[in-house]
Amino acid sequence: MGTPRLDIDLRKLHYNAHTLVGRFGIKGVSVTGMTKAVLGLPDVAKVLLDAGVCALGDSRIENIETMRKAGIKAPIILTRAPMISQIERAVVSADISFNTEIDVICALSDAAQKVGSVHGIVLMVELGDLREGIMPDDVECIARKTLELPNIEFKGIGTNLACRSGVSPDAKNMSTLSALADSIDAIFGVEIEIVSGGNSANIGWAFGDADMGRVNNLRLGEAILLGRDPLTRTPIEGLYTDSFQVVAEVIESKVKPSQPWGKFAQSAFGSPPENINQGDIHQVLLAIGEQDIDQDGLTSPPKVKILGVSSDHLILNAGNSELSVGDEVTFQPNYSALVRAATSPFVVKSIVHI
Ligand SMILES: *Cc1c(COP(=O)(O)O)cnc(C)c1O
Repeated sequence: MGTPRLDIDLRKLHYNAHTLVGRFGIKGVSVTGMTKAVLGLPDVAKVLLDAGVCALGDSRIENIETMRKAGIKAPIILTRAPMISQIERAVVSADISFNTEIDVICALSDAAQKVGSVHGIVLMVELGDLREGIMPDDVECIARKTLELPNIEFKGIGTNLACRSGVSPDAKNMSTLSALADSIDAIFGVEIEIVSGGNSANIGWAFGDADMGRVNNLRLGEAILLGRDPLTRTPIEGLYTDSFQVVAEVIESKVKPSQPWGKFAQSAFGSPPENINQGDIHQVLLAIGEQDIDQDGLTSPPKVKILGVSSDHLILNAGNSELSVGDEVTFQPNYSALVRAATSPFVVKSIVHI
């Protein structure tokens, strides 16, 4: 099998998704399975659907198109506001998009009229993390305009926290969202279908004894894929944290001094880290680099230590391991290393049982 490689265990992903769908189902909360970290990989998308997610979500239209080309017919939500330059593609491939700008919603309405479809809109509300969102006082006005547009269905409201500023979902911001849902219902005589409370960072709030209020949906990526709560990066009880592995191949294995020599300037990625003189060490080069992974996001096997990285090489202190050329070394990726590995065209994606 080729290297470098991202090994993906679909059974573990199914288990994680099914478990979370069950735990949230009891609370009346549906799960949207987020596929962006794996670039909409159809194998993963199908497993999430099998496990009972109500819809798929992805931030990139390209990934949604990949899933459509693979024959996935389930509802798919574009969770980053559509670009004006991609409006037609959004209407053709996504059933619903998350929006904050009335001009974009008008453009979606025009595009949907042209192709004769109806596009769903979820209005994102700013609740303090300062990424996307309409300020709460302005939601009514934008909802009113949205409700008037042809070929547009106003589906509900949502919010996203803990992504830019690390603002945690809590009883206060979640009840603000519920109160907004109540007031929109009252003002417009509708019943909002979707109140999407957030991403994997909502797990702590939702598993406590919190009142879900009107929140009836969460969008889960990391919690399913890596089994972790992104607020603390601690494992979520009962879930697998090792559904993905990054595998790289040894291309050099030598005894070398631990200290570089010569006159020092910058290295390819800025200043090299200080290194401690340990005398001669067993240094191993792997054929994987910054283009393929985030080295800070890799957990190494025991006894092996990452010393450095360049665009195309990962440098290890292999200790007294027997590693030699052609051998494979396996790492566990965190979210950022996973995203990088999934995105690199040099990393083979392979379905395995880990
Ligand atoms: C990425 C993203 C998610 C999923 O985030 P996770 O932390 O991986 O669960 C949900 N909603 C939006 C809007 C996103 O951008």
